[in-house]
Amino acid sequence: MRIAEIHVHRHRLAMRDGPYTLAHTEVRSLSTVLVEVVADDGLVGWGETCPIGPTYAEAHAAGAVAALGELAPGLIGTEVLPVPLHRTMDGLLHGHRYAKAAVDIAAHDLLGRKLGVRVADLLGGALTDRVPSYYSTVVGPPDDTARLAAEKVAEGYPRLQIKIGGRPVEVDIEAVRKVWEVVRGSGVGLAVDANRSLTTRDALRLSRECPDIPFVLEQPCDTVEELRTIRPQLGHGLHMDENGTSLNTVITAAGTGLVDGFGMKVTRLGGLHPMRAFRDLCAARTLPHTCDDSWGGDVIAAACTHVGATVAPGLLDGVWLAAPFIDGHLDPGNGIGIDGGHITLPRGPGLGVAPDRRLLGAPVASY
Ligand SMILES: [Mg+2]
Repeated sequence: MRIAEIHVHRHRLAMRDGPYTLAHTEVRSLSTVLVEVVADDGLVGWGETCPIGPTYAEAHAAGAVAALGELAPGLIGTEVLPVPLHRTMDGLLHGHRYAKAAVDIAAHDLLGRKLGVRVADLLGGALTDRVPSYYSTVVGPPDDTARLAAEKVAEGYPRLQIKIGGRPVEVDIEAVRKVWEVVRGSGVGLAVDANRSLTTRDALRLSRECPDIPFVLEQPCDTVEELRTIRPQLGHGLHMDENGTSLNTVITAAGTGLVDGFGMKVTRLGGLHPMRAFRDLCAARTLPHTCDDSWGGDVIAAACTHVGATVAPGLLDGVWLAAPFIDGHLDPGNGIGIDGGHITLPRGPGLGVAPDRRLLGAPVASY
């Protein structure tokens, strides 16, 4: 099976109950990029990449479209198998993994459809059909964050991520303490995510002033060097998210004991093929991690859920989806959602979802 056509679509995802506020970013709506790969036997596979605005990572939606323009003409005729596909993509364009990820996901979808199996089966096999998610609170007033945290624990979420940053650290500490007051004893897992925004001084202060609260500190500072600086003085587990830009950085972080786990994005690593390697590296060092993406609709949500289902349950910190924050579904019939803090693994074949073309309109580019 070889690639015959590639079509690139852009689609605006409308927010529900917006905005979604992070330390460096405020999201009111987002442009997602969908890739439709048509094989020479007529089968179609879908991929998606949706940077959460231009400041979360070194990625943006227009950049994905441009990178796909570099890749797509050279991919026509390539075999729909992950190893030759990635080798061809790397020979056409250096880096830009977030764009390559959309092609990788579409190829996995195609392969699954061709073989009549789920993407999770292609990745080694699902260990669960009910994949845990986690809820991410936006940066907001501490009382609102605590109220939301209590609500989400009651809904059944096994883990919460408290977003902090972009304001005095005293307010962040107050938010963490107020959440702990309402969730203590519930057994819910806690992460405190600063999205790179804290100084080393403030990250250490947060840890020192909350010695009784068992959270992991996710990507508190901007650089690997800053993480290395604070690591020996932290009283909390340290997880890397934004700095985990490739398997190379992951291997170094895991191999040097810099971190206790990862927040990981499928598109940041370049798709499901490298994500499978990441999963296995983490298993070799018993490092917990998430299987997320920064944002996006049903296609990327399905991809994250399929890989999440293949992670050893004791190491899966959850699959974060943008679904609770998005109005409507790209696949209105089979859209991916969260129920009781968990996601039902789509049955497949392939990803088990496909966007409704009437919602997408004409492609922005065809190859
Ligand atoms: Mg994070």
